[in-house]
Amino acid sequence: MTSARLRKTDLVVDLKALKHNVEMQRRALAPGSRILAVVKANAYGNGMVPVANALSKVGVEGFCVALLDEALELRDAGIQETALVLGITPVEYAPLAANQGISLTVGTVEWLRAYQRLAKEEGLKYPLKVHLALDTGMGRIGFTNNVDFKAALALMEEPCFDFEGIFTHFATADEQDASYYQKQLTRLKDFLTVVKKWPPYVHMANSATGMWHQEDIIANTVRMGISMYGANPSGTAQKVSLNLKPVTSLVTHATYVKRLAVGESVSYGATYTAKADEWVATLPVGYADGYPRRMQGFHVLVDGHECEVLGRVCMDQMMIRLPHEYPVGVEAVLIGRSKDKEITVTDVAEYANTINYEILTGMSARLHRQYKG
Ligand SMILES: *Cc1c(COP(=O)(O)O)cnc(C)c1O
Repeated sequence: MTSARLRKTDLVVDLKALKHNVEMQRRALAPGSRILAVVKANAYGNGMVPVANALSKVGVEGFCVALLDEALELRDAGIQETALVLGITPVEYAPLAANQGISLTVGTVEWLRAYQRLAKEEGLKYPLKVHLALDTGMGRIGFTNNVDFKAALALMEEPCFDFEGIFTHFATADEQDASYYQKQLTRLKDFLTVVKKWPPYVHMANSATGMWHQEDIIANTVRMGISMYGANPSGTAQKVSLNLKPVTSLVTHATYVKRLAVGESVSYGATYTAKADEWVATLPVGYADGYPRRMQGFHVLVDGHECEVLGRVCMDQMMIRLPHEYPVGVEAVLIGRSKDKEITVTDVAEYANTINYEILTGMSARLHRQYKG
Protein backbone atom coordinates (compact mmCIF):
# COMPACT_ATOMS: atom_id res chain seq x y z
CA MET A 1 0.00 0.00 0.00
CA THR A 2 1.13 3.54 -0.67
CA SER A 3 2.35 5.51 2.31
CA ALA A 4 0.60 8.80 1.53
CA ARG A 5 3.07 11.66 1.64
CA LEU A 6 1.02 14.32 -0.11
CA ARG A 7 -1.90 14.82 2.25
CA LYS A 8 -0.15 16.49 5.18
CA THR A 9 -0.96 13.67 7.57
CA ASP A 10 1.67 11.93 9.66
CA LEU A 11 1.91 9.22 12.22
CA VAL A 12 4.67 10.91 14.21
CA VAL A 13 6.95 8.50 16.09
CA ASP A 14 9.04 10.00 18.88
CA LEU A 15 12.16 7.82 18.99
CA LYS A 16 13.52 9.79 21.93
CA ALA A 17 10.44 8.90 23.98
CA LEU A 18 10.82 5.28 22.88
CA LYS A 19 14.41 5.14 24.14
CA HIS A 20 13.40 6.95 27.33
CA ASN A 21 10.74 4.30 28.02
CA VAL A 22 13.25 1.48 27.60
CA GLU A 23 15.60 3.26 29.99
CA MET A 24 12.81 3.64 32.58
CA GLN A 25 12.07 -0.08 32.41
CA ARG A 26 15.74 -0.96 32.60
CA ARG A 27 16.22 1.08 35.77
CA ALA A 28 13.30 -0.69 37.41
CA LEU A 29 14.69 -4.18 36.77
CA ALA A 30 17.29 -6.13 38.70
CA PRO A 31 20.85 -5.31 37.55
CA GLY A 32 21.94 -7.46 34.61
CA SER A 33 18.36 -8.02 33.41
CA ARG A 34 17.93 -7.96 29.68
CA ILE A 35 15.25 -6.52 27.46
CA LEU A 36 13.86 -8.05 24.30
CA ALA A 37 11.95 -5.29 22.51
CA VAL A 38 8.68 -6.50 21.04
CA VAL A 39 8.42 -5.08 17.52
CA LYS A 40 5.76 -7.37 16.05
CA ALA A 41 2.89 -5.97 14.00
CA ASN A 42 5.05 -3.24 12.52
CA ALA A 43 6.28 -2.23 15.99
CA TYR A 44 2.69 -1.73 17.17
CA GLY A 45 2.07 0.42 14.12
CA ASN A 46 5.15 2.58 14.59
CA GLY A 47 7.27 1.03 11.81
CA MET A 48 9.35 -2.05 12.60
CA VAL A 49 12.71 -1.33 11.02
CA PRO A 50 13.12 2.31 12.10
CA VAL A 51 12.01 1.41 15.63
CA ALA A 52 14.37 -1.58 15.80
CA ASN A 53 17.26 0.52 14.49
CA ALA A 54 16.64 3.16 17.16
CA LEU A 55 16.47 0.51 19.87
CA SER A 56 19.69 -1.19 18.78
CA LYS A 57 21.44 1.99 19.89
CA VAL A 58 20.11 1.80 23.46
CA GLY A 59 21.40 -1.71 23.95
CA VAL A 60 18.30 -3.85 23.95
CA GLU A 61 19.39 -7.46 23.79
CA GLY A 62 17.24 -8.26 20.80
CA PHE A 63 13.75 -8.30 19.34
CA CYS A 64 10.55 -10.30 19.52
CA VAL A 65 8.23 -10.59 16.54
CA ALA A 66 5.11 -12.65 15.95
CA LEU A 67 5.99 -14.20 12.58
CA LEU A 68 8.99 -15.55 10.73
CA ASP A 69 8.32 -13.07 7.92
CA GLU A 70 8.79 -10.22 10.37
CA ALA A 71 12.08 -11.66 11.64
CA LEU A 72 13.31 -12.05 8.06
CA GLU A 73 12.45 -8.40 7.44
CA LEU A 74 14.68 -7.45 10.38
CA ARG A 75 17.53 -9.53 8.96
CA ASP A 76 17.00 -8.04 5.47
CA ALA A 77 17.38 -4.62 7.08
CA GLY A 78 20.75 -5.68 8.48
CA ILE A 79 19.61 -6.08 12.08
CA GLN A 80 21.76 -8.82 13.58
CA GLU A 81 20.58 -9.01 17.20
CA THR A 82 18.57 -11.88 18.62
CA ALA A 83 15.26 -12.09 16.77
CA LEU A 84 12.70 -14.36 18.40
CA VAL A 85 9.51 -15.44 16.65
CA LEU A 86 6.85 -15.70 19.38
CA GLY A 87 4.30 -17.65 17.38
CA ILE A 88 4.60 -21.21 16.08
CA THR A 89 6.35 -21.48 12.70
CA PRO A 90 5.44 -24.30 10.28
CA VAL A 91 8.35 -26.72 10.56
CA GLU A 92 9.07 -26.70 6.81
CA TYR A 93 10.02 -23.00 7.05
CA ALA A 94 12.28 -23.48 10.06
CA PRO A 95 15.44 -23.98 7.94
CA LEU A 96 15.02 -20.35 6.78
CA ALA A 97 15.23 -19.34 10.42
CA ALA A 98 18.26 -21.52 11.11
CA ASN A 99 20.12 -20.04 8.14
CA GLN A 100 19.51 -16.50 9.39
CA GLY A 101 20.14 -17.16 13.08
CA ILE A 102 16.50 -16.45 13.90
CA SER A 103 15.15 -18.00 17.10
CA LEU A 104 11.90 -19.96 16.98
CA THR A 105 9.34 -20.75 19.65
CA VAL A 106 8.50 -24.42 20.07
CA GLY A 107 5.70 -25.92 22.13
CA THR A 108 5.57 -29.62 21.23
CA VAL A 109 7.93 -32.58 21.09
CA GLU A 110 6.45 -33.52 17.69
CA TRP A 111 7.63 -30.25 16.19
CA LEU A 112 11.17 -30.85 17.47
CA ARG A 113 11.21 -34.41 16.11
CA ALA A 114 9.91 -33.25 12.72
CA TYR A 115 12.66 -30.64 12.57
CA GLN A 116 15.25 -33.22 13.57
CA ARG A 117 14.19 -35.41 10.59
CA LEU A 118 14.21 -32.42 8.24
CA ALA A 119 17.67 -31.35 9.39
CA LYS A 120 18.99 -34.86 8.73
CA GLU A 121 17.32 -35.20 5.31
CA GLU A 122 18.44 -31.80 4.10
CA GLY A 123 21.83 -31.87 5.80
CA LEU A 124 21.23 -28.48 7.41
CA LYS A 125 24.42 -26.73 8.41
CA TYR A 126 23.38 -24.43 11.24
CA PRO A 127 21.64 -25.41 14.46
CA LEU A 128 18.22 -23.89 15.02
CA LYS A 129 17.93 -21.52 17.97
CA VAL A 130 15.00 -22.66 20.08
CA HIS A 131 12.94 -21.10 22.86
CA LEU A 132 10.68 -23.61 24.61
CA ALA A 133 7.29 -22.10 25.40
CA LEU A 134 5.55 -23.13 28.62
CA ASP A 135 1.79 -22.87 28.87
CA THR A 136 1.25 -21.95 32.51
CA GLY A 137 -2.30 -20.75 32.02
CA MET A 138 -2.49 -18.57 28.92
CA GLY A 139 -3.96 -21.55 27.04
CA ARG A 140 -2.44 -20.48 23.73
CA ILE A 141 0.82 -22.27 22.88
CA GLY A 142 3.47 -24.11 24.86
CA PHE A 143 4.18 -27.29 26.76
CA THR A 144 1.41 -28.17 29.13
CA ASN A 145 3.09 -30.84 31.26
CA ASN A 146 6.50 -31.70 32.69
CA VAL A 147 6.75 -35.06 30.87
CA ASP A 148 6.68 -33.48 27.41
CA PHE A 149 8.80 -30.60 28.62
CA LYS A 150 11.47 -33.02 29.88
CA ALA A 151 11.44 -34.84 26.54
CA ALA A 152 11.94 -31.49 24.81
CA LEU A 153 14.81 -30.62 27.15
CA ALA A 154 16.46 -33.94 26.27
CA LEU A 155 16.14 -33.16 22.55
CA MET A 156 17.88 -29.83 23.15
CA GLU A 157 21.13 -31.85 23.43
CA GLU A 158 20.87 -32.76 19.73
CA PRO A 159 23.33 -30.99 17.42
CA CYS A 160 20.55 -29.62 15.18
CA PHE A 161 19.35 -27.45 18.08
CA ASP A 162 20.85 -24.49 19.90
CA PHE A 163 18.91 -24.27 23.18
CA GLU A 164 18.55 -20.55 23.68
CA GLY A 165 15.50 -19.91 25.84
CA ILE A 166 12.52 -20.85 27.97
CA PHE A 167 9.53 -18.62 28.45
CA THR A 168 5.95 -18.27 29.50
CA HIS A 169 3.25 -15.65 29.04
CA PHE A 170 0.81 -14.29 31.61
CA ALA A 171 -2.88 -13.81 30.92
CA THR A 172 -3.76 -11.37 33.72
CA ALA A 173 -0.56 -9.54 34.70
CA ASP A 174 -2.32 -6.20 34.08
CA GLU A 175 -5.11 -6.90 36.55
CA GLN A 176 -5.44 -5.74 40.14
CA ASP A 177 -6.42 -9.21 41.32
CA ALA A 178 -3.19 -11.23 41.25
CA SER A 179 -4.63 -14.66 42.07
CA TYR A 180 -4.58 -16.08 38.52
CA TYR A 181 -1.18 -14.52 37.96
CA GLN A 182 0.10 -16.26 41.12
CA LYS A 183 -1.23 -19.59 39.88
CA GLN A 184 0.69 -19.16 36.64
CA LEU A 185 3.83 -18.20 38.55
CA THR A 186 3.59 -21.33 40.70
CA ARG A 187 3.14 -23.45 37.56
CA LEU A 188 6.22 -21.79 36.02
CA LYS A 189 8.33 -22.55 39.08
CA ASP A 190 7.17 -26.14 38.92
CA PHE A 191 8.22 -26.39 35.24
CA LEU A 192 11.60 -24.86 36.03
CA THR A 193 12.40 -27.49 38.67
CA VAL A 194 13.12 -29.98 35.86
CA VAL A 195 15.60 -27.64 34.12
CA LYS A 196 19.16 -28.64 35.09
CA LYS A 197 20.96 -25.82 33.32
CA TRP A 198 19.27 -22.57 32.32
CA PRO A 199 19.60 -21.51 28.68
CA PRO A 200 20.83 -17.94 28.05
CA TYR A 201 17.32 -16.47 28.06
CA VAL A 202 14.62 -17.25 30.57
CA HIS A 203 11.74 -14.85 30.19
CA MET A 204 8.32 -14.49 31.74
CA ALA A 205 7.56 -10.78 31.74
CA ASN A 206 5.54 -8.81 29.21
CA SER A 207 5.04 -5.07 29.84
CA ALA A 208 2.46 -5.58 32.56
CA THR A 209 4.63 -8.07 34.45
CA GLY A 210 7.66 -5.80 34.07
CA MET A 211 5.63 -2.95 35.49
CA TRP A 212 3.52 -4.44 38.30
CA HIS A 213 5.29 -7.66 39.25
CA GLN A 214 8.97 -6.73 39.24
CA GLU A 215 9.48 -8.24 42.67
CA ASP A 216 8.70 -11.78 41.57
CA ILE A 217 10.44 -11.94 38.22
CA ILE A 218 12.45 -15.15 38.51
CA ALA A 219 13.72 -14.84 34.94
CA ASN A 220 16.54 -12.80 33.44
CA THR A 221 14.84 -11.16 30.46
CA VAL A 222 11.77 -8.96 29.90
CA ARG A 223 9.75 -8.81 26.69
CA MET A 224 8.79 -5.18 26.53
CA GLY A 225 5.93 -4.26 24.22
CA ILE A 226 3.17 -1.72 24.80
CA SER A 227 4.96 0.11 27.63
CA MET A 228 7.89 0.79 25.31
CA TYR A 229 5.43 2.68 23.10
CA GLY A 230 4.38 4.71 26.13
CA ALA A 231 0.94 3.18 26.62
CA ASN A 232 -0.56 1.63 29.74
CA PRO A 233 -0.90 -2.18 29.41
CA SER A 234 -4.04 -2.09 31.55
CA GLY A 235 -5.71 0.76 29.67
CA THR A 236 -6.98 2.79 32.62
CA ALA A 237 -7.48 -0.02 35.12
CA GLN A 238 -4.15 0.43 36.90
CA LYS A 239 -1.79 3.35 37.35
CA VAL A 240 1.44 3.20 35.34
CA SER A 241 4.35 2.79 37.74
CA LEU A 242 7.06 3.85 35.28
CA ASN A 243 7.56 7.38 34.00
CA LEU A 244 6.53 6.62 30.41
CA LYS A 245 6.30 9.08 27.54
CA PRO A 246 3.85 8.62 24.66
CA VAL A 247 5.61 7.67 21.43
CA THR A 248 2.88 7.85 18.80
CA SER A 249 0.98 10.91 17.57
CA LEU A 250 -1.45 11.24 14.68
CA VAL A 251 -1.48 14.69 13.14
CA THR A 252 -3.31 15.98 10.09
CA HIS A 253 -4.36 19.26 8.48
CA ALA A 254 -7.81 20.42 7.44
CA THR A 255 -8.60 20.18 3.73
CA TYR A 256 -11.91 22.04 3.78
CA VAL A 257 -13.55 24.59 6.07
CA LYS A 258 -17.15 25.79 5.84
CA ARG A 259 -20.01 27.35 7.72
CA LEU A 260 -22.73 24.79 8.47
CA ALA A 261 -26.22 26.28 8.93
CA VAL A 262 -28.57 25.21 11.70
CA GLY A 263 -30.55 22.14 10.63
CA GLU A 264 -27.94 20.90 8.14
CA SER A 265 -26.47 17.43 8.56
CA VAL A 266 -23.07 15.82 8.16
CA SER A 267 -21.73 12.48 6.91
CA TYR A 268 -23.21 9.06 6.14
CA GLY A 269 -26.56 8.34 7.70
CA ALA A 270 -26.93 12.05 8.51
CA THR A 271 -26.48 11.11 12.17
CA TYR A 272 -25.42 14.65 13.12
CA THR A 273 -27.50 17.77 12.58
CA ALA A 274 -26.30 21.24 13.53
CA LYS A 275 -28.25 22.85 16.37
CA ALA A 276 -26.83 26.24 15.50
CA ASP A 277 -24.71 27.74 12.75
CA GLU A 278 -21.15 26.50 13.18
CA TRP A 279 -17.72 26.21 11.60
CA VAL A 280 -16.85 22.75 10.33
CA ALA A 281 -13.54 21.40 9.08
CA THR A 282 -12.97 18.28 7.02
CA LEU A 283 -9.88 16.20 7.78
CA PRO A 284 -8.27 13.78 5.29
CA VAL A 285 -8.21 10.81 7.70
CA GLY A 286 -10.70 7.99 8.11
CA TYR A 287 -11.22 4.45 9.25
CA ALA A 288 -9.08 3.10 6.40
CA ASP A 289 -6.19 4.77 8.23
CA GLY A 290 -7.13 3.04 11.46
CA TYR A 291 -9.05 5.87 13.10
CA PRO A 292 -12.21 4.01 14.16
CA ARG A 293 -15.52 4.67 12.42
CA ARG A 294 -17.38 4.92 15.71
CA MET A 295 -15.63 8.08 16.96
CA GLN A 296 -18.64 10.38 16.41
CA GLY A 297 -18.96 12.52 19.55
CA PHE A 298 -15.28 12.18 20.52
CA HIS A 299 -12.89 15.03 19.79
CA VAL A 300 -9.63 16.04 18.15
CA LEU A 301 -7.42 19.01 19.06
CA VAL A 302 -7.09 22.17 17.00
CA ASP A 303 -4.96 24.94 18.41
CA GLY A 304 -5.50 23.58 21.95
CA HIS A 305 -9.30 23.36 21.51
CA GLU A 306 -11.26 20.11 21.83
CA CYS A 307 -13.23 19.86 18.59
CA GLU A 308 -16.11 17.38 18.42
CA VAL A 309 -16.13 14.71 15.71
CA LEU A 310 -19.36 15.35 13.79
CA GLY A 311 -21.23 12.43 12.25
CA ARG A 312 -19.71 9.12 11.27
CA VAL A 313 -16.04 8.87 10.42
CA CYS A 314 -15.81 8.03 6.70
CA MET A 315 -13.26 5.73 5.09
CA ASP A 316 -10.85 8.55 4.19
CA GLN A 317 -12.28 11.74 5.68
CA MET A 318 -14.00 13.03 8.79
CA MET A 319 -15.61 16.25 9.97
CA ILE A 320 -15.08 18.23 13.18
CA ARG A 321 -16.61 21.36 14.72
CA LEU A 322 -14.25 24.33 15.01
CA PRO A 323 -14.74 26.88 17.81
CA HIS A 324 -14.46 29.65 15.19
CA GLU A 325 -13.18 30.03 11.67
CA TYR A 326 -9.71 28.63 10.92
CA PRO A 327 -8.04 28.52 7.52
CA VAL A 328 -7.75 25.42 5.40
CA GLY A 329 -4.52 23.71 6.42
CA VAL A 330 -4.98 24.24 10.13
CA GLU A 331 -3.39 21.44 12.18
CA ALA A 332 -5.62 18.86 13.84
CA VAL A 333 -4.22 16.38 16.37
CA LEU A 334 -6.09 13.08 16.57
CA ILE A 335 -3.59 11.49 18.97
CA GLY A 336 -1.01 13.59 20.82
CA ARG A 337 -0.60 17.09 22.24
CA SER A 338 -1.86 20.48 21.16
CA LYS A 339 -0.90 23.33 23.50
CA ASP A 340 -1.91 22.20 27.02
CA LYS A 341 -4.32 19.50 25.84
CA GLU A 342 -3.55 15.87 25.11
CA ILE A 343 -5.38 12.91 23.60
CA THR A 344 -3.69 9.60 24.37
CA VAL A 345 -4.04 6.45 22.34
CA THR A 346 -5.79 5.01 25.39
CA ASP A 347 -8.39 7.84 25.28
CA VAL A 348 -9.17 6.92 21.68
CA ALA A 349 -9.32 3.22 22.56
CA GLU A 350 -11.65 3.71 25.54
CA TYR A 351 -14.04 5.76 23.43
CA ALA A 352 -13.94 3.16 20.67
CA ASN A 353 -14.60 0.45 23.25
CA THR A 354 -11.34 -1.38 22.61
CA ILE A 355 -7.75 -1.44 23.91
CA ASN A 356 -4.83 0.81 23.05
CA TYR A 357 -3.03 -2.18 21.46
CA GLU A 358 -5.76 -2.47 18.84
CA ILE A 359 -5.71 1.23 17.99
CA LEU A 360 -1.90 1.28 17.64
CA THR A 361 -1.62 -1.88 15.57
CA GLY A 362 -4.53 -0.74 13.42
CA MET A 363 -2.67 2.36 12.19
CA SER A 364 -2.61 1.47 8.53
CA ALA A 365 0.21 1.36 6.00
CA ARG A 366 -1.34 4.35 4.23
CA LEU A 367 -0.28 6.68 7.07
CA HIS A 368 3.10 8.21 6.43
CA ARG A 369 5.45 7.63 9.38
CA GLN A 370 7.55 10.56 10.47
CA TYR A 371 10.45 9.89 12.88
CA LYS A 372 11.60 12.45 15.47
CA GLY A 373 14.69 12.30 17.67
C1 LIG B 1 2.84 -9.50 22.20
C2 LIG B 1 3.56 -10.26 23.22
C3 LIG B 1 4.30 -9.58 24.20
C4 LIG B 1 4.26 -8.09 24.38
O1 LIG B 1 3.17 -7.78 25.20
P1 LIG B 1 3.00 -6.32 25.84
O2 LIG B 1 1.78 -6.45 26.66
O3 LIG B 1 2.80 -5.40 24.68
O4 LIG B 1 4.23 -6.03 26.58
C5 LIG B 1 5.08 -10.33 25.06
N1 LIG B 1 5.10 -11.66 24.97
C6 LIG B 1 4.37 -12.36 24.07
C7 LIG B 1 4.45 -13.84 24.06
C8 LIG B 1 3.56 -11.68 23.18
O5 LIG B 1 2.84 -12.36 22.30
